[in-house]
Amino acid sequence: MSNVKFTNKLNLPEPLVNALQYDSHRMMGHVSVTQLIEPPRIRVLKKFIEKEEDVTDRMWMLWGSAIHNILEKSNMSGKNKDAIRTVANLFKSKSQAQDDTYDRVANYLKSEEEKLVFDPNERYIIEKTFVAPIEGWDLCGTVDLYDKEKQIIQDWKLCKTYKWTSAESRKQWIKQLNVYAWLLEKNGFPVKGLQIVPFFRDWTALTHKYKSQRGQDYPDTEVAIIDIPLKPLDQIEAYVKSCIKDHQRAEDGEVRDCTGEERWAEADVYAVMVEGGSRAKFKFATYEQAQNYIEEFGYKFVKPLYVQHRPGKSKRCEEYCPVFEQCPQIKKIVPTILD
Ligand code: SF4
Repeated sequence: MSNVKFTNKLNLPEPLVNALQYDSHRMMGHVSVTQLIEPPRIRVLKKFIEKEEDVTDRMWMLWGSAIHNILEKSNMSGKNKDAIRTVANLFKSKSQAQDDTYDRVANYLKSEEEKLVFDPNERYIIEKTFVAPIEGWDLCGTVDLYDKEKQIIQDWKLCKTYKWTSAESRKQWIKQLNVYAWLLEKNGFPVKGLQIVPFFRDWTALTHKYKSQRGQDYPDTEVAIIDIPLKPLDQIEAYVKSCIKDHQRAEDGEVRDCTGEERWAEADVYAVMVEGGSRAKFKFATYEQAQNYIEEFGYKFVKPLYVQHRPGKSKRCEEYCPVFEQCPQIKKIVPTILD
């Protein structure tokens, strides 16, 4: 686990600080679905980084957990889970140094929580962690909702409206939900459909009106249902296997580079420049195209022309990656950013 040292610069009250530091992720295997679909370099570097984070930067994480918590508690198994956690905490508080009985009961309740609350007759399975073995590892993932009647998986997300049109988000959702489908199938639950249910935290009626008047794409309401394409099971399994192998190799020290797609990299550009000038005369997708232009039209310019290679920006690295500062790969790609 990454070593995060929390600060409390605003001197917020202790109960709120505790809530902001609380990690609600459930880990019941070697790797979770969220980690699996991340590049192995991020997962490996995260284990070693030491960083400081102010609790105020985790406010939206708290909102997200609150929504999941309320949704979980609004159904019977969620209520039962809550009751089990309360009893487990009560036993924990009574544990004594000379007698570990209370401690053992508390640990048992926590470890068996999922099984104890599972009701086979309930239509919906909510916030349940599934585990399946693959390539010698256990893969785990917590599914927000599985509708047994419709055989549909739903994932609830608190997110910004830009995700509605973001191609990167769609790609991530497709990977995540298809791996959940594989996990459920491996646990005996057939899956026929996948849906993302986004709660748009920055949605406003005014922006909706403004954008729809201009024909711009914007969600109609604060919450939506987005259908995600379900891939054939053998295709998902092949993807899961290749990801697991990548992560295993990374743990053995053989970390592969993040691909352009994983870095959300823009395409490289080859600019035709005039010697001494600072602005591109023309931009091309390949070096050959730029060079051909110079050979054909270079005679029209007083000063000589040359080709300048401009590597595409890696958006994920520069704006979202938690290990950006520790990453040796990005230092090779954009040395100027870190120097
Ligand atoms: S900074 Fe970029 S290249 Fe490095 S681990 Fe993150 S995504 Fe990969």
